[in-house]
Amino acid sequence: MNIAIRRPTLGPDATAFLAKEHKILIDGKWVAAQSGQTFAVEDPATQEVIGHVPAGDKADIDLAVKAARRAFESGPWARMTPRDRSRLVWKLGDLLEQHADELAELEALDNGKPVTNARKDDVQGSIDMFHYMAGWSTRLNGETITVSKSDGNWHAYTLREPVGVVGQIIPWNFPLMMAAWKLAPALAAGCTIVLKPAEQTPLSALRFGELIVEAGFPAGVVNIVTGFGETAGAALSEHPDVDKVAFTGSTEVGKLIVKAAAGNLKRVSLELGGKSPAIVFPDADLDVAIAGTADAIFYNQGQCCTAGSRLFAHKSIYDKVVEGVAAEAKKVRIGHGLDPKVNLGPLVSKEQHDRVTGFLESGRKEGAEVVTGGKVHGNQGYFVEPTVLAKTNRDMRVVRNEIFGPVVCVQAYDDDDLDAVAKFANDTEYGLQASIWTRNLKVAHLLARKIKAGTICINTHNFGDPAWPFGGYKQSGWGREMGKEVMEHYTEVKSVAAKLV
Ligand code: ADP
Repeated sequence: MNIAIRRPTLGPDATAFLAKEHKILIDGKWVAAQSGQTFAVEDPATQEVIGHVPAGDKADIDLAVKAARRAFESGPWARMTPRDRSRLVWKLGDLLEQHADELAELEALDNGKPVTNARKDDVQGSIDMFHYMAGWSTRLNGETITVSKSDGNWHAYTLREPVGVVGQIIPWNFPLMMAAWKLAPALAAGCTIVLKPAEQTPLSALRFGELIVEAGFPAGVVNIVTGFGETAGAALSEHPDVDKVAFTGSTEVGKLIVKAAAGNLKRVSLELGGKSPAIVFPDADLDVAIAGTADAIFYNQGQCCTAGSRLFAHKSIYDKVVEGVAAEAKKVRIGHGLDPKVNLGPLVSKEQHDRVTGFLESGRKEGAEVVTGGKVHGNQGYFVEPTVLAKTNRDMRVVRNEIFGPVVCVQAYDDDDLDAVAKFANDTEYGLQASIWTRNLKVAHLLARKIKAGTICINTHNFGDPAWPFGGYKQSGWGREMGKEVMEHYTEVKSVAAKLV
């Protein structure tokens, strides 16, 4: 099919930002990379170059870490009261809100995602994260501890202190929101940060950096270095003066981060891949379940670590579910993400496009039935049709591997025993999310306990909220983001014992 993709016009603010010479943020100043090198940023819908950003590497990471260390140890940030820190974090949420449309446009342009989703999910989720986390600054308390020493009087207590300089490495699927998930709690705790955005999608982080400066965070508190994973990312994860690294991305790179962090035993938190099951029971509201499980895989072009990529339908409703999800796939409007009518944009890059089309080929070869989709869309940009693969089984590559595209593998099950259902849901090396579609509360909550995943959704999928801890079991990661749990990552507990003499 020959489909010409045109980029819709951007608003004046996003246009003005794009026209700028992009720099990296180190110690409160916008500077070029030490090497002077830059790399091109592409619109994945048209393959046009939309800008160049500095190719930061080890030298820039070094400068950024030094600035973060200075800001952590001395100066206004180190002395700031929790109340004033809270105000700054809240203010950054307000600034995101004031520039919400512009940020949504930049996100749609750079990542390819539909601008309406970018506004209501990515940008709104980022605003909400700052407003929620602002409250934690003034709630990071230690405890008094009852000790059992018999030799005199003791007063023992704990302090909760910021962990220090934090390296944050984020992916391209939700560029702004991943920056917000990482930055908001770290700032609330009083840490200082070196953030490395993904090379595919650096633009919104740089605009975000301008808002961080505008909000009034002291120099060096947040440093943003654009660059590649193998250079800037690797330098940050192995840096001896970084106290903690927080990473979201592939399981493969997560394992490299763990190795790199071993040098100085920095703290590590990881939010990695998934192959999430969506399980539809015969008693589910099928309209809700069909629309919901279709959205679970097609949302964000399937580029979600939580994507409901393994769909299990009871054999009594299997045909209806397959037909229903395929009908949803056919309704999807594909096009440039900046077009507000579009709800499926391109994949983020040629690399992803090659990966997903490779899996489509492999699914066919292994005998999966292509009910709908299965092909690239058009001959420009990185579009792939939303695809339903039926008659799949546990041994197929498409079922075992994270595809990270709009491709769902449907399997029928005929077991009514919940342990058996949990067994096939758990038949994966991942454990990030699962969704259960039923009207039976007992089934829903008993199965929720049996599934080995960090997040369970009942009659919904891809749920998220700043107060809801998020993270994975097994190879989906270490630790939890959001909620009160995330504060564990960004604080150290210090125990103090005093003999009252
Ligand atoms: P994907 O494979 O989906 O592109 P990655 O896990 O490769 O996801 O990328 C997520 C983030 O990790 C990006 O910011 C990327 O630059 C970074 N990254 C990639 N390789 C490394 C590495 N060896 N060390 C540190 N960071 C890396």
